Amino acid sequence: MRLRDSESDARFRKEVRAWLAENLPVLGPPPAYGDWPARKTYDQRWQRMLFDAGYAGIDWPAAYGGRGATASEQLIFLAESAAAGAPDLGVHFVGQLHAGPTLIAEATDEQRAFHLPRILRGESIWCQGFSEPGAGSDLASLRTRAVRDGDHYVVTGSKIWTSYGFAADYCELLVRTDPDAGKHRGISWLIMPMDLPGIDVRPLRTIQGESEFAEMFLDEVRVPVENLVGRENDGWRVAMVTFGFERGTSLVRELLTAMAMVEELATLAKTLGHGPGRTAWDDDAIRREIGQVAAELDAMWALTRRNVTRAAGGGGVPPAGGSAFKLTYSEAIHHFGEVAMKVLERYAISLDALPLGAGASLPVGRHIIEHLHAFAISIGAGTSQIQKNILAERVLGLPRER
Ligand SMILES: Cc1cc2nc3c(=O)[nH]c(=O)nc-3n(C[C@H](O)[C@H](O)[C@H](O)COP(=O)(O)OP(=O)(O)OC[C@H]3O[C@@H](n4cnc5c(N)ncnc54)[C@H](O)[C@@H]3O)c2cc1C
Repeated sequence: MRLRDSESDARFRKEVRAWLAENLPVLGPPPAYGDWPARKTYDQRWQRMLFDAGYAGIDWPAAYGGRGATASEQLIFLAESAAAGAPDLGVHFVGQLHAGPTLIAEATDEQRAFHLPRILRGESIWCQGFSEPGAGSDLASLRTRAVRDGDHYVVTGSKIWTSYGFAADYCELLVRTDPDAGKHRGISWLIMPMDLPGIDVRPLRTIQGESEFAEMFLDEVRVPVENLVGRENDGWRVAMVTFGFERGTSLVRELLTAMAMVEELATLAKTLGHGPGRTAWDDDAIRREIGQVAAELDAMWALTRRNVTRAAGGGGVPPAGGSAFKLTYSEAIHHFGEVAMKVLERYAISLDALPLGAGASLPVGRHIIEHLHAFAISIGAGTSQIQKNILAERVLGLPRER
């Protein structure tokens, strides 16, 4: 594994750092937590700034508006963005991290030429319509059906946990196109424009108290056949391509943000009182646990860089690498949340920043939100139990579950 920047990587890092220092103040502070309409505008503005500066889609092909750079430069960009406190992708999560990459891998030239530049410019927001009330872990049981009628599929059914459904322009949608085929065989992957008649999106409230995701009801929605990605009834294979991106690379920025937050937690531990004349930092057990979390996240960052170096050298990514990464990260982030709650102790009852007087405050709320968010990480894109099943069967070669 290469631990030092190459000369060109070092140049790129310097350039990104300078650009962030100059442009983040122009963007201004983020909107209030959970104010998704304002967040949408904010995320779109930042995405456009990145695009104009050549930092959108760093490892996407230049032909589709990307930078056409290396995965190593992509990691540098993510690391510098996290260190500078730049916004994460927000409403662009699905489009940039798994719908876009799936289109790069599987779509027609026309579909790529239309959608990819719009995603990178921040003009089109995507959501994911995979899960249904009766099809989560067992996704292949999905029942939303699409019946061919001339140049259209007529889609009827319902989806659930549709992240960014309230804001989306397009949906990566899994539908059943052949009800008589085996359950993995009769599925297709469609691009559904979200402004078609018959789509009803209803917000769902999360444990974090906001409405990032929604239920989606589809009543005879007419989706053009030209919006099929891959072949008809081959959607399960295309969905596995989507999951390959969603379970792996999409969590790297989250990891980097968590690493920055461990540093912040150490500062909080040195500041917050834990009994008379003591801070949390005076407690050996808490200090040790903060160190352990930092080491777990550091190890994941090393694993990420190793995988990128290996892939760049033609070594490919390890089998089920995305599942291993997601499972380990989920466990590390739950551990982080538990340690953060021990540090915050009685201060963990309010999401507000803790006022210190003279305008200063401590960001305790961020840590409570991250603690709750850990539950989302270990469920979304396949639960930890499902990742364990995948690793058991595909890596360890254990018998398949019945
Ligand atoms: C924050 C968040 C965002 C999400 N965003 C989206 C989105 O944008 N689009 C979308 O389509 N979906 C989305 N999801 C849904 C997510 O993919 C599903 O919640 C997940 O796949 C689990 O499905 P389920 O909720 O139906 O639980 P179930 O499948 O009903 O599972 C219930 C429990 O049983 C366990 N279990 C189930 N089967 C097995 C098994 N074979 N072996 C061992 N244990 C098992 C599970 O691990 C879990 O603990 C999101 C979820 C979250 C939390």
